[in-house]
Amino acid sequence: MPAWMPQGERDRWAGEMRRRLQRRMERARPSDERLDHRAQALNARHFGGRLHWTSIGFADMARRWGSCTFTVGAIRIATRATTLPDWVLDYLLVHELAHLEHSDHGPAFKELEDRYPLSERARGYLMALDHATTEPAVD
Ligand SMILES: [Zn+2]
Repeated sequence: MPAWMPQGERDRWAGEMRRRLQRRMERARPSDERLDHRAQALNARHFGGRLHWTSIGFADMARRWGSCTFTVGAIRIATRATTLPDWVLDYLLVHELAHLEHSDHGPAFKELEDRYPLSERARGYLMALDHATTEPAVD
């Protein structure tokens, strides 16, 4: 910061730099709050807002894209999913949200999952990423 800059100008500039840095950090960090907002929107749009969970957030998972602890209503999405397009991330959320009502992958579960119109396409997308396996590793 140039020394000739008036104090008021310096403060304003420092504040601006701080805000920019803050925004950059927020974009880089997987935000559990952002995930919760997306889940709430999907819940309202596809499930009439009837689903309830106790916690939702990102977690480090090496092999899977998501998990749902059915009994306590805890949803976790793999941290590496933050690099996926939003519509694929939404599919992962819908999949785990559907597990709040059905722990298996039976027909009733599929009916819930397919309420999200891009489910089929997202499964294909994940399958291509996980090309070593035949099924996308969503639990
Ligand atoms: Zn599953």
